[in-house]
Amino acid sequence: MSLLNRQRLLDRFLRYVQIASTADPTSDGYPSSEGQRELGKLLAQELSKMSAVDVHQDEHGLVYATIPATADAKNLPVVALLAHMDTSPDAPGDRVRPNVVESYDGGEIQLESGEVITPKTCPELVNLVGKTLITTDGTTLLGGDDKAGVAIIAEVAHTLIENPHLPHGELKLVFTCDEEIGHGTDKIDLDKLAADVAYTLDGGGEGIIDVETFSADGATVHFVGDSIHTSIAKGRMVNALRGAADFIAALPRDSDSPEATEGRQGFIHANTITGQVGEVTLNLILRSFDTADLPGYADRLKAIAKSVESDWPGLKVIVDTHKQYRNLGDGLAKLPESIDLAVKAFENLGRPYKKEIIRGGTDGSVLTEKGLPTPNLSSGQHNIHSVREFACLDEMISAGDHLVELLKLWSQQRR
Ligand SMILES: [Zn+2]
Repeated sequence: MSLLNRQRLLDRFLRYVQIASTADPTSDGYPSSEGQRELGKLLAQELSKMSAVDVHQDEHGLVYATIPATADAKNLPVVALLAHMDTSPDAPGDRVRPNVVESYDGGEIQLESGEVITPKTCPELVNLVGKTLITTDGTTLLGGDDKAGVAIIAEVAHTLIENPHLPHGELKLVFTCDEEIGHGTDKIDLDKLAADVAYTLDGGGEGIIDVETFSADGATVHFVGDSIHTSIAKGRMVNALRGAADFIAALPRDSDSPEATEGRQGFIHANTITGQVGEVTLNLILRSFDTADLPGYADRLKAIAKSVESDWPGLKVIVDTHKQYRNLGDGLAKLPESIDLAVKAFENLGRPYKKEIIRGGTDGSVLTEKGLPTPNLSSGQHNIHSVREFACLDEMISAGDHLVELLKLWSQQRR
């Protein structure tokens, strides 16, 4: 039996998904869309009403709140829970009309628009028979990524306030903006947050603890040629485009490329190019679970640059790399309890769990590197960034139960 209020969690979730908060990659503002501010305002009101303390929405739109400790807080670790309020620009997010499917029968789910969610294309449905699912009408995404996380955290906060006998240390809540366009951690004030450990509730399905992400560097390659009118180009033109084409052709293809790798394998990936005869800029990303592999990838780019330069006399090829984020696992190793207690909470509840690695990054990758260990946990999301997105209410409740147990375990730790 869950301590969480099922109906209230569902109502909360339905309320949040109906506020359009699509992140806008073309905007210069922060947050990139007004809807994020609007959802944040509502969350701040709801948190104040349930008597959370220090509730405020900061100038960037982020919402902070604190649930005071039930025990002597002095030596207890401070835990933070984070979820992002924006939704992906990859699918329409305006006028979301959620549809609740009670006790899913295992078959195809027909959406109003004609779209269909089928067990064939979404195998995890097989495990969700009898559960409550929330879909859309098929014209928009749902926004369970990450409003499922937002709703779970808000409902857990409410549950803790209503049940003062549940032991926990000081709990901080942070609802963030613009995660979907790579700016989820830009404005988080870690000094203000002053937490010892954090969890993002932004994972798929149920019972998954994301313990590793890629380590990531970006690379920019500048090709500087010499542009001159084609009529007088003989012996004088140096075409940067030719150098860039050769450079891309020399990148690894059958290994160390995204098209040829999976699991723990890393890669070099060329992802944007702009330019003309005189100058070309090529951007690449370097990814590996082993941070120590990244300099090797940079060296390969430099070797290719040298060889292209010698093939095209007069052409300059300059490789610059910059750090993006680091494997979550590197930083979590400094606080193994961040994972161990999450595991123990699942065990105490008698629920299955899985540790997974992500071939990408999370907000937690950045926060962990900045010194706040932040694994990612499941929040009942499915088919994200799609008009066939859905969320599972039972999995959301389960995620909430896990948090309550996890917070109890943290309250048995000392700083
Ligand atoms: Zn997300």
